[in-house]
Amino acid sequence: MIDLHLHSSASDGALSPDEVVALAAANGVRTLALTDHDSTAGLEAGAAAAARLKLTFVPGVEVSVSWEHRTLHVVGLNIDASNDQLQAGLRELQKLRDTRAREIGRRLAKRGIPDAYAGARALAAGADITRTHFARHLHANGHAKNFQDAFKRYLHLGKPAHVSVTWAALEDCIDWIHTAGGQAVLAHPLRYPMTRSWLLRALTAFKQAGGDALEVVCGRGNRDELMQAAHLATRFELAGSVGSDFHAPGNAYLHPGGLPELPDNIEPVWNRFH
Ligand code: AMP
Ligand code: MN
Ligand code: MN
Ligand code: MN
Repeated sequence: MIDLHLHSSASDGALSPDEVVALAAANGVRTLALTDHDSTAGLEAGAAAAARLKLTFVPGVEVSVSWEHRTLHVVGLNIDASNDQLQAGLRELQKLRDTRAREIGRRLAKRGIPDAYAGARALAAGADITRTHFARHLHANGHAKNFQDAFKRYLHLGKPAHVSVTWAALEDCIDWIHTAGGQAVLAHPLRYPMTRSWLLRALTAFKQAGGDALEVVCGRGNRDELMQAAHLATRFELAGSVGSDFHAPGNAYLHPGGLPELPDNIEPVWNRFH
């Protein structure tokens, strides 16, 4: 069993890299990638844990990309995390995350919620701050009914504490991943708030920029979504990947592993790892 999209406390996951690897192993996963948002900080610990459990570990990262004023997520798989160009790119995104987080804090303060930046920062515990940390803080402090509600009230596009930033350019992100020896995978293609025609445009741009694969099997997707994604991979001549996008144990999330198989007619992106 394979799972090439997992988060740890090195970004917005609830578990440490060791714990994520242990949970994946317990669920029967044999090959896994740790893919934290804009950071490779968890890869060393993840690789060590995987080696102890005799799992195949694929170093990864999920890069935030801005394309046509929209956000796309590109997963880099089988990357050399020591690559300077990749790390220079990620450092810029990490700086942007902090600037954005401070602005989110200011917007929340204006709505009568003080100290949210400090709260989110404490929850991030040294990792770069994501909206997930703000959502957890807002929920924990009674400003939202639950985690989802924090996004709905404050953090989603168009809500009062949503701050737009320009993440990496698509071409740059794919360059960094390739320079670091990796494969560039467009994550969760059916989960962007985009019309079908915009999605097709995004896929065209991704392919043109040298993108390698599409996350055909992803967490929370049903059979119909899997077939749609497989069709898109074929149409755009992209390989396929498989990932749960696991963040935390609990009902709202898919667990590591437990995913359907990649359809036979799609080339597995992991065949291209070397
Ligand atoms: P950021 O990259 O800081 O904008 O945060 C994006 C992260 O927030 C995603 O990777 C998800 O983990 C989480 N997220 C976004 N929207 C939702 C939502 N509606 N429900 C739960 N988590 C969400
Ligand atoms: Mn996330
Ligand atoms: Mn994502
Ligand atoms: Mn993810």
